[in-house]
Amino acid sequence: MDRIDYSGRKKPYFINTYHYIGADDNMSKDLTVIGSGPGGYVAAVLGAKEGLDVQVVEKEASIGGVCTNHGCIPSKALLSTAEKIETIKGARRDGINTSLEDIDFKKVMSKKERAVKISRKAIRSLFHKHDIDVIEGTAEVMGPKEVKVKKNSGGNEILTSNDIIIATGSEPITLPNLEIDEENIISSRGALDLKRVPESMLIVGGGYIGIEMAYVFSSLGTKITMVELEDELLPNMDKDLRDVAEQMMKRKRIEVYTGSKLVDIQGKENIKAIIEGDTEEEIKVEKVLTSVGRRPTPPEIHGELDIIGEHGEILVDDHMKTELDNIYAVGDVTGKSMLAHAAYKQAEIAVDEIMGRSPKGFSKFEIPAGIYTHPEMASVGLTEEEAEEKLDNVKIGKYSISRTGRGASTGERMGVAKIIAGPDNELLGLHLACPGATDLIMEGTAALRCGMDAKEFSQMVHPHPTYSEALKEAAENVFKESVHSG
Ligand SMILES: Cc1cc2nc3c(=O)[nH]c(=O)nc-3n(C[C@H](O)[C@H](O)[C@H](O)COP(=O)(O)OP(=O)(O)OC[C@H]3O[C@@H](n4cnc5c(N)ncnc54)[C@H](O)[C@@H]3O)c2cc1C
Repeated sequence: MDRIDYSGRKKPYFINTYHYIGADDNMSKDLTVIGSGPGGYVAAVLGAKEGLDVQVVEKEASIGGVCTNHGCIPSKALLSTAEKIETIKGARRDGINTSLEDIDFKKVMSKKERAVKISRKAIRSLFHKHDIDVIEGTAEVMGPKEVKVKKNSGGNEILTSNDIIIATGSEPITLPNLEIDEENIISSRGALDLKRVPESMLIVGGGYIGIEMAYVFSSLGTKITMVELEDELLPNMDKDLRDVAEQMMKRKRIEVYTGSKLVDIQGKENIKAIIEGDTEEEIKVEKVLTSVGRRPTPPEIHGELDIIGEHGEILVDDHMKTELDNIYAVGDVTGKSMLAHAAYKQAEIAVDEIMGRSPKGFSKFEIPAGIYTHPEMASVGLTEEEAEEKLDNVKIGKYSISRTGRGASTGERMGVAKIIAGPDNELLGLHLACPGATDLIMEGTAALRCGMDAKEFSQMVHPHPTYSEALKEAAENVFKESVHSG
């Protein structure tokens, strides 16, 4: 098949000719991507692999977005340190007479910084390999094919391209009485860059970021207090995982105020915080970390291009298309699912759309979510509450991690596997809390993707002894048939 080559570069044979017949020859590039986080860099690399001439605009000096610089990578680096600390603390239970002598926090942070640098370097080398230009500056969308960049080095530049993918991410939500200064009142970004371990910290918000930060800093020795407006921690997760989170916080001696809110804060360094719930409490802390959620940060969009929703999200359909031809959005800025791998998937869909392939639309149902504490917690599909809202006769099967052979051998007491099935045994949701759950959940994601039912799932052979056997037993328990439940 003859290829149409508007950019002077080689196009793959399967390029969608209709799209490119419509493409404008006067454009300087095929594709402009705004933002270099998981949504942006994956879209850029996939586009370039398709033979598109791609440019990326990034306002920060470091590429990689929140995930690489202030999110997934640094937080998981610190969580892996926390996990090692906990292993040492618990070693005596295995007959290993050792104790935790000292923690060199500077080294802990340089290990985290190394992880960030490795990640950034990997993205930079992908850009280099695929000839992707990076323009440093803040992008504004001027029209369907035009982006203005206020360059970090000064001056403006107008970029033109046949398509635009917006991947500008999100930022922490701030509370009216809690202005983040990243010194005393910090966001997760400030927490991941602290110079020393604080003696005490109040964490406002018991979602996954708050819980992970609580885990890290309590392992490092900070006295943590947590306040959550809802009646339980992790309000968006399944209730059995919420129970595990509560147990975990108790085990780590973290004081949790649920159904409560921070009503006042006084002082700068020795902070007095007033928490209102069933009772009013006054606590003194060194730092306050706010983690009450994130909101989309769209770029400035000019003219008649009204594509912003009421929460600041860019409105897209399941194919990541805005109402405007040639403008797509992916990642946190769409507000669909604020996770890095959701951004990856959306980038894949947007590029497939640009290439005219009509991909399967984005489905939040197939996006797993994980929390990297001990035990890890992971979910895919619907929670029990969500399933019951949608369907009658929802069936539940559960199995405790402590009853698996692996649990017996390792001494792991906390954790659960839970399977949610519909009236026709269709798999609706899988939830798991155990070591390695964030990897093991892929079994559930694959099963949902393949449309497997709970019966088929229960018939799969799982290696013994593993925590994954709890998923099999939970699936058997959907039919009250688990061998080891008696
Ligand atoms: C502490 C923490 C831990 C997390 N842990 C996980 C995890 O374990 N797993 C997971 O899946 N997700 C995790 N996340 C969420 C994850 O980081 C985000 O979902 C992901 O980064 C979103 O990717 P994105 O490409 O949409 O946006 P971002 O990563 O936010 O990237 C957007 C980029 O766009 C740039 N930009 C913004 N506006 C403009 C503009 N006008 N012009 C030019 N550039 C612009 C920004 O500078 C940024 O580099 C975590 C988040 C936090 C805060």
